[in-house]
Amino acid sequence: MKKSNLAKTDSPLSLRQAKLIFDSLLDGILIINFEGDILFANHSSTRLFNKSIEQLIMQNFGFPVNPNEIQEIQLIQGKELITVQMLSTIIRWKRHDAYLVSLRDVSEIKKLEQEIFSAYRDLKISDSKLRELNADLEYKVEERTNELLALYEKSKFLLDSMPQKVWTADTSGNVDYFNQTWYSYVGASKSFNPDDWVLYVHPEDVEKTRRLWKNAVKTGTFFQSEHRIKDVNGNYRWHLSRALPQKDKKDNVLMWVGTSTDIHEKKLIEERKDHFISIASHELKTPLTSLKAFIQLAEATLNGNTTKVDALKLNSYIQKVSSSANKLHDLVTDLLDASKIQSGKMVLSFKEVDISKLIKDTVSNAQSMFSTYRIQLQNVEEAGIIVADRNRLEQVLVNLISNAVKYSPNADKMIITVKDKEKSVQVSVKDFGIGIPGDQVPYLFNRFFRVEKVSARFQGIGLGLYISSEIIRGHGGRMWVKSKVNSGSTFYFEIPKQQENTDIV
Ligand code: ADP
Repeated sequence: MKKSNLAKTDSPLSLRQAKLIFDSLLDGILIINFEGDILFANHSSTRLFNKSIEQLIMQNFGFPVNPNEIQEIQLIQGKELITVQMLSTIIRWKRHDAYLVSLRDVSEIKKLEQEIFSAYRDLKISDSKLRELNADLEYKVEERTNELLALYEKSKFLLDSMPQKVWTADTSGNVDYFNQTWYSYVGASKSFNPDDWVLYVHPEDVEKTRRLWKNAVKTGTFFQSEHRIKDVNGNYRWHLSRALPQKDKKDNVLMWVGTSTDIHEKKLIEERKDHFISIASHELKTPLTSLKAFIQLAEATLNGNTTKVDALKLNSYIQKVSSSANKLHDLVTDLLDASKIQSGKMVLSFKEVDISKLIKDTVSNAQSMFSTYRIQLQNVEEAGIIVADRNRLEQVLVNLISNAVKYSPNADKMIITVKDKEKSVQVSVKDFGIGIPGDQVPYLFNRFFRVEKVSARFQGIGLGLYISSEIIRGHGGRMWVKSKVNSGSTFYFEIPKQQENTDIV
């Protein structure tokens, strides 16, 4: 094998071989002397210059040549200007130094570069526009989110601060939300599954409520149910639950929105009203029956030959008739008073009243009626003249005294105490009777209220204390009670000595 001489500048290749190699190259190759005259041109260079090899040889290249630098020159090709990249080096050519210039048409690449650049620029522009848009969108989304959050917080606040218990359920009727009011009322934590609501409904009301709810969900119609719900202390209170289906335009149920309202007091009043009707009819019937019976007896006695004995009998019948008639009268008066109070038509007539005399007179009458009781008076002389409705105050006193007697079957005394204050007078009636359980006390002055369990043992319709407390309220005063089961009760009332907005001084 021949030793390689490739590293040497003066190539051992023959000129013919070199020409052949240069002609096979795609790049244009020129050999130029230092004066710029073209000494050699390969085949590809004819395409670049659009001239034949003969035309090129010995022509001046016309461009400065900087060896070992990448240069770019522009050549005219027909009507187009092409960019040619030029790389040159110094070689020995026919015993002289000359430039070997390699030329490459980079127009396409340049065009491509240009296109890429403009595409890149467009991309940059769209990117920045997109960024702007994105920022704008992000701002809008944030703004909207904040608005929604504020709205959500507001509605949440509203829902949570509502006295009503609010809840929602999905289309299948599964309860999925309760407001804070509900959680606070039942004392459940937020981890509680709302659909387990039945756990808080009174066992006796569960089945009925479930049935009504299932039916409403099935038919997509209004739900309404009255049931007891257990509060945080384990006490059941009556509630009215209602729910309306929220529907889309095609009448499909989207969700249910429900409320549960505390109707305990109303329900109790209703129960008491029902109870009252049965008691009142019984209470009215008893004196009426005896009235009729004694009138018949009186008639029979009168129809016979009236003797002295008969006259005595007749007198006792009349006494009994009168007592029954009084009972009826009292009952009807109480009913009328209650209805007057209800409709705001009870008018008090204020006059100067000697309260100490009023108490003494009332007690003296009561003492003769309840002769087995000792009614003690304390500090009664202390009180002087006040402005009040005499008859109504007497009514309050009579009511408190008769209750003290009625609800003290095993006692024989009561104490009435007067406390003269600077601007008011306080009167209390203390008995030593059955007393009142603490949990019943808050309802004592309600209409038709009677203490559970004991009410059956004593006659009454639950209006006396209601009427009395309303009379005292009408005087601008207040009424209250202190009581202990089996020890007795003390009922108090306090009224101002003067009445505002009256001419009487
Ligand atoms: P009535 O006596 O007709 O039932 P009231 O309004 O006077 O109606 O009294 C309401 C209830 O308060 C009574 O049913 C009774 O249970 C209770 N009560 C009233 N006074 C007393 C008392 N002095 N001692 C114990 N319980 C009383």
